[in-house]
Amino acid sequence: MEERSYDRRKRVRLLKRIILGTIAAAIIIPTGVSIVLGIRVISLQNRITILEEALAVYENQPEDLTGVYTTASIEESPRDTLQAGEVTQETRQEQDQTKKQIYLTFDDGPSQNTDEILDILKEYDVKATFFVVGKTDEQSLRAYQRIVGEGHTLAMHSYSHKYDEIYASKESFIEDLSMLQEYLYQVTGVWSRFYRFPGGSSNTVSEVDMRELTAYLNESGIAYYDWNIACGDAVSGKISVDTLVENSVGNLDNINRGFILMHDAVEKKTTVEALPEIIQKIQERGDAVFLPITDETTPVQHMMAK
Ligand SMILES: [Zn+2]
Repeated sequence: MEERSYDRRKRVRLLKRIILGTIAAAIIIPTGVSIVLGIRVISLQNRITILEEALAVYENQPEDLTGVYTTASIEESPRDTLQAGEVTQETRQEQDQTKKQIYLTFDDGPSQNTDEILDILKEYDVKATFFVVGKTDEQSLRAYQRIVGEGHTLAMHSYSHKYDEIYASKESFIEDLSMLQEYLYQVTGVWSRFYRFPGGSSNTVSEVDMRELTAYLNESGIAYYDWNIACGDAVSGKISVDTLVENSVGNLDNINRGFILMHDAVEKKTTVEALPEIIQKIQERGDAVFLPITDETTPVQHMMAK
């Protein structure tokens, strides 16, 4: 009798455990599944936001600029569309080999000065090259589009312009470069293939051997350009208009192809003030022609690829 009662208690206890176990499982399993699904929903929402933002860039192209340039659709491959510095018939005719070829190049823009620089170039009917950085404000977006729309060459000068990030490793250099190349393509429809290293290809700040980076650009079909004339506005502080003009045009007798380094930056106001005189002095020579950088422009390089 006692033994039977003991067995029964044992069975009841077992049954209790089974019931409690089942209840626990019924709570824990759905909770776990809910958490996993919840995380998945959040990650999908993030992806949707990123895609919506990308789409908005295409949809928000300013109306008054359409028609000035070709805006590529999302489906088109970058390489099939308008190329930076595409050589027009007009440009070809201008490439008179008997004349000095002068390339005005503006680094670090867009800036508050870009519009004024573009106005001056328009007034003198001169095409130039803008080595730009990545900026996302409305004024900069219009500046990129105006550069392209008015026939200048949109070239790259790194997205961040932060030496310690760009030159930290080959990977970080590539990441910064692709970011700018893709960004400019989104904003203008131009797949830029021209680059100027921050600090030039012979800079001594890079953690990476510059020959590795120049080799990478060569492999990627991107031409990099340094300069052989510096207008002198790279140094901090205000440089006088006279000095900038003299630096830009003073040595032209000895140069057949001049790549003039200038800066499109808010604090470089005298560069804008000197620009009309620099252009006039070069045009007055009668033996020189201004050209934008194109695929046909042989680069001037401080450091060659290995
Ligand atoms: Zn720069």
